[in-house]
Amino acid sequence: MTTVIDGKNVAASVIEIVKSATRALESETGVRAGLAVVIVGDDPASHAYVSAKSKMAKECGFLSVQHTLSEETSQEELAALVAELNADPSIHGILVQLPLPKHLRSEPIIQSIQPEKDVDGLHVVNAGKVATGDLEGGLVSCTPAGAMVFVRRNYGEDLSGLNAVVIGRSNLFGKPMSALLLAANATVTTAHSRTKDLAGVCRNADILVAAVGRPEMVKADWVKPGAMVIDVGINRVPAPERGEGKTKLVGDVAFEECAKVASVITPVPGGVGPMTIAMLMANTIIAACRKAGRKPPKF
Ligand code: NAP
Repeated sequence: MTTVIDGKNVAASVIEIVKSATRALESETGVRAGLAVVIVGDDPASHAYVSAKSKMAKECGFLSVQHTLSEETSQEELAALVAELNADPSIHGILVQLPLPKHLRSEPIIQSIQPEKDVDGLHVVNAGKVATGDLEGGLVSCTPAGAMVFVRRNYGEDLSGLNAVVIGRSNLFGKPMSALLLAANATVTTAHSRTKDLAGVCRNADILVAAVGRPEMVKADWVKPGAMVIDVGINRVPAPERGEGKTKLVGDVAFEECAKVASVITPVPGGVGPMTIAMLMANTIIAACRKAGRKPPKF
């Protein structure tokens, strides 16, 4: 029997841990965890993401602050807001929604966020801590952190003896995912567009993670029987079967056929996706606990 992971369910269990840690932190120290979300411009998709994050932050019991800046905001104005949030003791996490409007450079903004408040885990200090295996000190980027929750719940903390293959080497996902699997003692291969015999490499994986952005690229004969398959890809494709002009979301894994070979698999949508926002909340309470000198919860 193949287990199809219900990402919404797992995300809800993460949120429960966040809520109780938030209550405990406030009752024991008087500190309320605070998350500031910054959005610049009018992109409707970004606005939808940001309202979902702010809403979830409130639900977790955080002080939830949203800064909505106009499309015309200058680099200096945005940098000044980040500096203000860095200095604000009531804010433990800062998230600047990406992408920024074209006239703004995101990299200097992200790198100006205090690493201790960088709940998106994109600061080079946090990326460096993940790369060096310092997982207690840094903040891990949300999507790989979420995928690792699935891995831990399936295999436990120690992946000794297991082969993991991550397809994709982006800074946002592939590289940190490989580093996290390695830190958990898996034997890790990071595959990418120049990898030779990708199907053969994947067939060796006990844990196969796909983060490419190519609809249903991973086929059943790429999957080792009994493997765990985690699909990070989000691709919108035409769905004429749903009516003219309709579209649907699919992952990088051909779900139906791969589910017949894998022992555990994540669907798209409803797999890794819901974990990203949950791990943003997890990072915020971790940051707040550390700031208050308390042991953060484990996820
Ligand atoms: P990215 O920066 O575009 O990286 C894609 C990676 O895939 C690159 O390393 C690329 O290799 C590799 N690749 C491209 N074509 C390939 C091929 N034919 N064979 C093997 N490897 C190939 O993308 P990303 O930011 O990591 O995101 C990947 C996917 O995950 C996207 O669909 C994205 O929407 C999704 N995603 C979802 C979430 C979420 O659920 N919340 C979060 C992040 C990303 P090279 O390096 O050689 O070019």
